[in-house]
Amino acid sequence: MNDARLPDPAASAGGLPVVALVGRPNVGKSTLFNRLVRARRAIVDDVPGVTRDRLVAPATHAGREFLCVDTGGVTSAPARDALAAGVRAQTLAAIAEADVVVVVVDGVAGLEPEDRETIRLVRRSGKPMLLAVNKLDRPGRDALAHDFLREGLEPLAVSAAHHRGVEALLDAIVAALPPPGGAPAGGEGGTRVAIIGRPNVGKSSLLNRLLGAERTIVAPEAGTTRDAIDTPIVVGGRRWVLIDTAGIRRRTHVRDPLERHGAVRALGTLERSDLVLVVLDAAEGMTDQDARIVGRAWQAGRGVVLLANKWDTLPPERRDPADFRAAIATFHGAFADLPLLCVSAKTGEGLGGLWPLVARVERAYDATLPTPAVNEALADAVASHPPPSPGGRPLRFFYATQTARRPPAVTVFTNAPEAVPAAYARYLAGQLVARFCLVGVPLRLRFRARRRAERPRVPSRAAAGERPRPARGRSRR
Ligand code: GDP
Repeated sequence: MNDARLPDPAASAGGLPVVALVGRPNVGKSTLFNRLVRARRAIVDDVPGVTRDRLVAPATHAGREFLCVDTGGVTSAPARDALAAGVRAQTLAAIAEADVVVVVVDGVAGLEPEDRETIRLVRRSGKPMLLAVNKLDRPGRDALAHDFLREGLEPLAVSAAHHRGVEALLDAIVAALPPPGGAPAGGEGGTRVAIIGRPNVGKSSLLNRLLGAERTIVAPEAGTTRDAIDTPIVVGGRRWVLIDTAGIRRRTHVRDPLERHGAVRALGTLERSDLVLVVLDAAEGMTDQDARIVGRAWQAGRGVVLLANKWDTLPPERRDPADFRAAIATFHGAFADLPLLCVSAKTGEGLGGLWPLVARVERAYDATLPTPAVNEALADAVASHPPPSPGGRPLRFFYATQTARRPPAVTVFTNAPEAVPAAYARYLAGQLVARFCLVGVPLRLRFRARRRAERPRVPSRAAAGERPRPARGRSRR
């Protein structure tokens, strides 16, 4: 891999495993980052919604390559609260995108409250966590690391400045990485992506843009001719299959009477795809017909990205993505949180963000949700908003576990599955979506009966050394 070209955001979001360094400012993260990536050049990657840039560089150890992300540190901020919120948001974003998280703490200063908070956030995510205790420059100081053992943590003593313990940390990182090749991103050939939408919204133009784009290399395989039904492509080292491309090409400019056939074909396309790019006409906003298409994709369990195309046709004063989203929220509220990109197939504007966003949704689609973290999220959701007691009968949630992937499904064991109000089910699903950053993906929540006599599994808080909270509603006020 060529250092100078990394990180292609698509690659960082998908191709190589991602290792994030998180921790307070001044614990030595940057020095450690430089040690881990050795002399390889870091590239500043600006993350939307995060206050500070972060550094990304490829690293290689024991034959494994991964991307190392330094979340930077916030050096100054006008208000203490803003500082804390910024650090937290940045840490959360880094954790959400990482395959392995290295929490870096200062072994001389000891464990500060912010460190504990960071550790808690990582534990919640269920991601593999390593604790690097830095600044242990001399052997005698390793004893300090043992303080961390009391917290139930397995510290790795390092000195970034003196290059102590770095190899052992790299060994531990490599051991924690997902298996080489990763989870197959959509099985054979890559995750299947469909471009769908009403006639004339610009599907065909977008397709041509995407296939013609410099960074998109059409895979040199059979079936890549212009008439191919499906077109395998490689972007940023990651394979995707664009579905039903021939259909998109042929369907151009055709309005009714083919509309019905188009709709039927669209259903077939949905069947075969993992993720869909639903193209909207930016000048028209999300119409009812668009909403029906999105709804069908959502019900079919597909990951969804909205593309507001023809952005170039809007007068400058209307080119505000927030306004566009607000209009969706007003008229089709259920879809207001879907990932949205404002683009122009004509000028290419906004399309640079497409594959990174698709890769992000793909990750959510393919997510593995660790059972302890699912139960902790469930316990938190129930504690902050207890379920109603339909007919005076208390609703209890015993435990939950992921029961499917692509898209993720979670089964919640309860005393009364049929009595869970739809609104409460939506609330719980929303909490899980937020906790696991399942952006653009329809999380399926199922409720199954479990008799009370069976012992519920204890949620993970006890294991995390925190105050245990039962995952059940408090029905008697
Ligand atoms: P499809 O039916 O969804 O495949 O739509 P087409 O790709 O055939 O586009 C319909 C019309 O919109 C064509 O005249 C395109 O040139 C035009 N068009 C597509 N995308 C854009 C865009 O981003 N900006 C502008 N100004 N026109 C576009």
